[in-house]
Amino acid sequence: ATPAATMVGTTIGAKNGILFEGGDVLERVRDIDTVVFDKTGTLTTGEMSVTDVIALNPQTDGGQLDSEHNSLLDSNTRSSGASIDTDSDADVDAEIKTKTDIDPDPDLVRTPREMAVLRLAAAAEQNSEHPLGDAIVSAARKCDLNIPTATEFNAIPGQGVRATVDQQTVIVGNDRLLKNAGIDIDPAASTLRELESDGKTAMLVGVIDNPDVSIFDDTDTDTEITDTRRLVGVIADADTIKDSAMDAVETLRARGTTVHLITGDNERTAKAVASQVGIDPENVRAEVLPEAKADAVETIQSAEDSRVMMVGDGVNDAPALAAAFVGTALGSGTDVAIEAAEVTLMRDSPADVIHAIRISEGTLSKIK
Ligand code: ADP
Ligand code: MG
Repeated sequence: ATPAATMVGTTIGAKNGILFEGGDVLERVRDIDTVVFDKTGTLTTGEMSVTDVIALNPQTDGGQLDSEHNSLLDSNTRSSGASIDTDSDADVDAEIKTKTDIDPDPDLVRTPREMAVLRLAAAAEQNSEHPLGDAIVSAARKCDLNIPTATEFNAIPGQGVRATVDQQTVIVGNDRLLKNAGIDIDPAASTLRELESDGKTAMLVGVIDNPDVSIFDDTDTDTEITDTRRLVGVIADADTIKDSAMDAVETLRARGTTVHLITGDNERTAKAVASQVGIDPENVRAEVLPEAKADAVETIQSAEDSRVMMVGDGVNDAPALAAAFVGTALGSGTDVAIEAAEVTLMRDSPADVIHAIRISEGTLSKIK
């Protein structure tokens, strides 16, 4: 582009909340034939809220687990956090009644067990910077739950969190994380499927007593599954799809642009969101770990010999934004993403991808 064309394009862009940066960015935006969208925070608002708290029913797990679940409840419904041996179910029930005399959100947690699951998860997530974790902490506060202090907080990018709560390790995250921790997730399989088909992100909540082995090594497939590791519940978060996401996908496809979705979230949730915004299921890549997002973009670029615009908002997206033919960040995105990108959409609207293309086409064809 001539300096004049670049200046006009950049100025029109800025007036419309679209920031172009870097030499031949207008040409490259004009020439893209594929757009890869991140899901959370890009096609969706990223403002998560908890929709479901499910305590796995110990009765259906066999009697052996029952007392463990009760002791879990007992130690966590007490504000002191002191662990007390439970001799009989009657004692436990009495304890629960007195300690859970609060006014929970009736839609979210109804039983003491559900409260215990939400409280444990909130404890583990309280230092999380992830929107999924924020939503869990807000929900627990909204339900007036007393969130115990956690120590040894660890975030595992793209998988979840773990922390020590009342001398137990609490793990909140996806199936991979819980499996790697040696926790049997089969009892939650159908629950997960159901929540995910609704486009919700379902997180598993697991507890380990006195963890004594390294359990978070991805390569450690021999981890012994013992009865001190157990799944206690499932929490689902939902997010709102932006209206402009549908418009963006429809207009891009009408222009002949291929549209993909890439996310760290699970396959079923990703496909549910894709179908709502009009992205083909075969163009969905799910469960992509943060470090693999850039590889995925490069694969799309080389396999289809295409010129890809990657659109994302997160720290996780930054390498993919840099790897793409054009990187586009949302203005509400993290600084790292914005720095890695050449285009920034200040209005956070996926439909502004179309406007960016039109501005580049218009200024480059008119001003030689
Ligand atoms: P996205 O690509 O949608 O931004 P991430 O790569 O950050 O997602 O995370 C992928 C998956 O890892 C999430 O869908 C969730 O299952 C799990 N996960 C990540 N962070 C957390 C957290 N703080 N708590 C629970 N689960 C988490
Ligand atoms: Mg995102």
